[in-house]
Amino acid sequence: MKHFFERPLPSYTFEIFPPKGNASTAGTYAVIDSLVCFNPDLISVTYGAGGTSRDNTVEITSGIQNKYKVCGVAHLTCVGTTRKELHEILDRLKANNVKNILALRGDLKDENDLGEFHHASELIKFIKEEYGDEFDIFAACYPEKHPEAKSMDEDLKYLKEKCDLGVKALISQLFFDNDIFWEWREKARSIGITQPIIAGIMPITSAAQISKVVELCGASVPVPVRRFVNAYDYNQAAMKDAGIAYATEQIIDLIARGVDGIHLYTMNQPDTVRRIDLGIRSVLYTKRYEARG
Ligand SMILES: Cc1cc2nc3c(=O)[nH]c(=O)nc-3n(C[C@H](O)[C@H](O)[C@H](O)COP(=O)(O)OP(=O)(O)OC[C@H]3O[C@@H](n4cnc5c(N)ncnc54)[C@H](O)[C@@H]3O)c2cc1C
Repeated sequence: MKHFFERPLPSYTFEIFPPKGNASTAGTYAVIDSLVCFNPDLISVTYGAGGTSRDNTVEITSGIQNKYKVCGVAHLTCVGTTRKELHEILDRLKANNVKNILALRGDLKDENDLGEFHHASELIKFIKEEYGDEFDIFAACYPEKHPEAKSMDEDLKYLKEKCDLGVKALISQLFFDNDIFWEWREKARSIGITQPIIAGIMPITSAAQISKVVELCGASVPVPVRRFVNAYDYNQAAMKDAGIAYATEQIIDLIARGVDGIHLYTMNQPDTVRRIDLGIRSVLYTKRYEARG
């Protein structure tokens, strides 16, 4: 298995979520069975609150790495955790040959949710101090700034701080407007952020989903997206078709402009991924072929 950083750009990666609580892992493995057919460069697994969900992140990421021989990335957050707990999780990941971590602060319901670490940078520092270069660390970035940041400049300053701690690549928050992403990417490059910036894309497949997403991350919703969300409010199948078509076009445009990578927020829906994959495959592989020289 080639390591993620040895594979040609643009990279093509997926994000999935593990089962919650004591729910069976069988459904998640069925999702992975379908996703690996698309030959992703890595599959990342989200990390929630609660011990069992967190154990599931470790188990599923290890399965991706060892059973499917695909590079697995475990998300890790600062929420409600201690150094000791993080040590235990990192030791288990290391023992299972998982070499990639997406280090995050985590979604907060309340300021008091945080444990011994308050920012992703502290988590990154901890991993580096305790494990040296055992793990390749990814971090999150925000083309429309993080909702809590006072300004874009401040957010970029903290992003640069994270990068300088030894982050290998960035994965962006989802966005629907490629021009916004591209303008922000230029700003990031202008302050010396040199790491690959992987664009996070979420296909919209329902009206409820877009409301939730906008509330959570504040992404701008361009007119064409608004139009299809309003038009197909009562037609679920048409909404899904339009959302997949929009995400496909968005990805093709990003690849044409020379993006470093595409990270699909799959929502554990392999059928949606299959349809996007069909649409982008020739453009993606032509670029990758050219990149090999
Ligand atoms: C690709 C991706 C995957 C994600 N996966 C998960 C997941 O699995 N589980 C989950 O719970 N959440 C996940 N999230 C959501 C993420 O945890 C939230 O967006 C969270 O609010 C911020 O995380 P961060 O790592 O970017 O935090 P940080 O980098 O710590 O930034 C958070 C805020 O603090 C500011 N800041 C940063 N450093 C400092 C500092 N030193 N001093 C003062 N202010 C500072 C930043 O500007 C920003 O406003 C994911 C997000 C992305 C983009």
